[in-house]
Amino acid sequence: MKFGTKAVHAGVEPDSTTGAIMTPIYQTSTYVQAAPGDHKGYEYSRTGNPTRNALENAIAELENGKYGACFGSGMAAIDCVIKMLKPGDEVISTNDLYGGTYRLFTKIYEGFGVKFHFVPMGDLESVKAKVNANTKLIWVETPTNPMMNIIDIEAMSKIAKGAGALLAVDNTFATPALQQPLSLGADIVMHSVTKYLGGHSDVVMGALVVKDKALSERMYFIQNSSGAVCGPMDSFLVLRGLKTLSIRMKQHCINGKEIAHFLKNHPKVDKVYWPGFESHPNHEVAKKQMSGFGGMVSFTLKENTIAAATKVLSGTHLFSLAESLGGVESLLGHPASMTHASIPKEEREKTGVVDSLIRLSIGIEDAEDLIDDLKKALA
Ligand SMILES: *Cc1c(COP(=O)(O)O)cnc(C)c1O
Repeated sequence: MKFGTKAVHAGVEPDSTTGAIMTPIYQTSTYVQAAPGDHKGYEYSRTGNPTRNALENAIAELENGKYGACFGSGMAAIDCVIKMLKPGDEVISTNDLYGGTYRLFTKIYEGFGVKFHFVPMGDLESVKAKVNANTKLIWVETPTNPMMNIIDIEAMSKIAKGAGALLAVDNTFATPALQQPLSLGADIVMHSVTKYLGGHSDVVMGALVVKDKALSERMYFIQNSSGAVCGPMDSFLVLRGLKTLSIRMKQHCINGKEIAHFLKNHPKVDKVYWPGFESHPNHEVAKKQMSGFGGMVSFTLKENTIAAATKVLSGTHLFSLAESLGGVESLLGHPASMTHASIPKEEREKTGVVDSLIRLSIGIEDAEDLIDDLKKALA
């Protein structure tokens, strides 16, 4: 089945009691039992809820996995993965990680004795150099936020298998519409569902998908024990969002391409980061593992100052200045002062997050209008 068809039908069965075509919002915390232990598969909504389960199945199917788990946020989903580790275990990750992930790793889990290595993952040797007997997890984000670096998932999976470690991929930017990490050798796929999967900037949620049964048992045990689950209403909203994921991603890709080219030719723009350019250092890998280049584009200004960036950031009308990404409406952000403010200036500049860097989350509006908006703001 093709992805667009799957996106509409995955995980959803007509409701068994009424035939409702849309999964109802089971807004309930508990379920009546006929006798102790005699129930219809649900006991308590932290452990399981029919609306959430429908969504978990849908996301699992879209990612070519078997088992899905949804959480109260993307961070809660990442937290579940790190809780699979023990003190003394080591993790290798990329050096331009999403700021919140970097903060969780370094400010919380280092304190519990997990060791993290951050390396430029475009360079396979730098990853191999950190592998040792304690390596238990390789954490990949691709494309990365906000520099749009591309990491070779298949190559990482080979390194992880050789090390006896798990490979987890944060697939938030690409979504399963453009990239399916489990089919490229990953063990775990993670999503900030808040972004493209939800797609309408109205829900905060996270998800994990795995293929392996034993790994899924560990995942569900932590989901239930730690309890960072999402509610049925939010699950319903995301089930609705998923139905248009394929068609939304197509439009995000079309707009992303047009705007990346517009920016590249603009006299005030210095660098443009978009994996669709042949000049992008990992363009070949992007072409190999993605079926489109997405709607995220970052760029810097020739006048590399916060003041110059601020002029652009406050000069647009269609692009709204806000954190987050992946919604139908276009947003722009300033990583140095917003999403990446928790990363020390020295660290962030090493990875390219300079003062004038602007990140666009390009929505599904008409590209012509969006380009017009940017033209005016840049002028
Ligand atoms: C937003 C985001 C997260 C965190 O997800 P939340 O839903 O905000 O908790 C993790 N990774 C990436 C790439 C993100 O963009």
